[in-house]
Amino acid sequence: KAGLEKTRKNFTEKIEQLVVGYAKIDDELLDDLEAVLLSADVGVPTTSVLLNDIRKGIKGKEINSPDDLRPFLRTKISDMLQNGSGVLTLTEQPPTVILVVGVNGVGKTTTIGKLANYYRQEGHNVIVAAADTFRAAAIDQLEIWGNRVGVDVIKHSEGSDPAAVAFDAVQAAKARKADVLIIDTAGRLHTKTNLMEELKKISRVANREIPGAPHETLLVLDATTGQNAISQAKFFSDTVFVSGVVLTKLDGTAKGGVIVAIGNELGIPVKWVGVGEGVNDLRPFAAAEFAAALFA
Ligand code: GDP
Repeated sequence: KAGLEKTRKNFTEKIEQLVVGYAKIDDELLDDLEAVLLSADVGVPTTSVLLNDIRKGIKGKEINSPDDLRPFLRTKISDMLQNGSGVLTLTEQPPTVILVVGVNGVGKTTTIGKLANYYRQEGHNVIVAAADTFRAAAIDQLEIWGNRVGVDVIKHSEGSDPAAVAFDAVQAAKARKADVLIIDTAGRLHTKTNLMEELKKISRVANREIPGAPHETLLVLDATTGQNAISQAKFFSDTVFVSGVVLTKLDGTAKGGVIVAIGNELGIPVKWVGVGEGVNDLRPFAAAEFAAALFA
């Protein structure tokens, strides 16, 4: 549950205050509740879905007093998040290829380091590909993580063709019988068209060499950016098939409600959450547990 404290404070404690502060459910309470949801970055569309559900719940006598609000919201939010949580099952025929996409600064490199560590600790042989060739620093950072968690990093020099890195990495993964290949990608949004083409090409190369690859395309989003995360998710979904989201920096924000918006508005399952900078600060996401923790 670590990492959720700030969101919980902003969210649950305020709901608690609402529940205590009102003797009955009226428009004023619902207005206040709306403000709480918006301040936790649940977002306008998802907040109105939840409020409509509550109004229906009141009509249908499912909600009879302010006390009923918390369990009701917990169930609704859990349902919204349920939309497919869970860690990827590795393919029978290795390697399983995981493409990692996202805007610079969201925590992509760190997430790849943590993911590599996770699979390695599960006893798998992992290779990482430095296919963000745009920034020399990105290649260096990835190598530092590779050394830290004890996995090989396939790299070319700065400015080389990202798809060529992906190709080499796939060959290396096959030759070294790797179970998991994790491919880093660039995240420079100022050249959107190039980035789109680049991501598609990397995907194509991986798919040509390994049927079904990439088996997972993880979009890394930074929880502290609130609703910006939603627009990033829309951009990447238009480019590649995003099979899951990693929501990072949940430890540093009161805006963790964005996770509910991701589940509800985008229907992309949240698969992992980042709750710190350390190697073990990545958790498989479980919707029901998360909702329970929020309303604990
Ligand atoms: P990239 O540009 O997307 O590759 O981002 P980095 O992986 O370099 O991360 C950017 C910064 O965010 C670094 O200082 C990381 O330590 C930090 N960071 C990444 N994930 C998390 C997280 O889950 N929690 C916190 N608190 N910091 C994180």
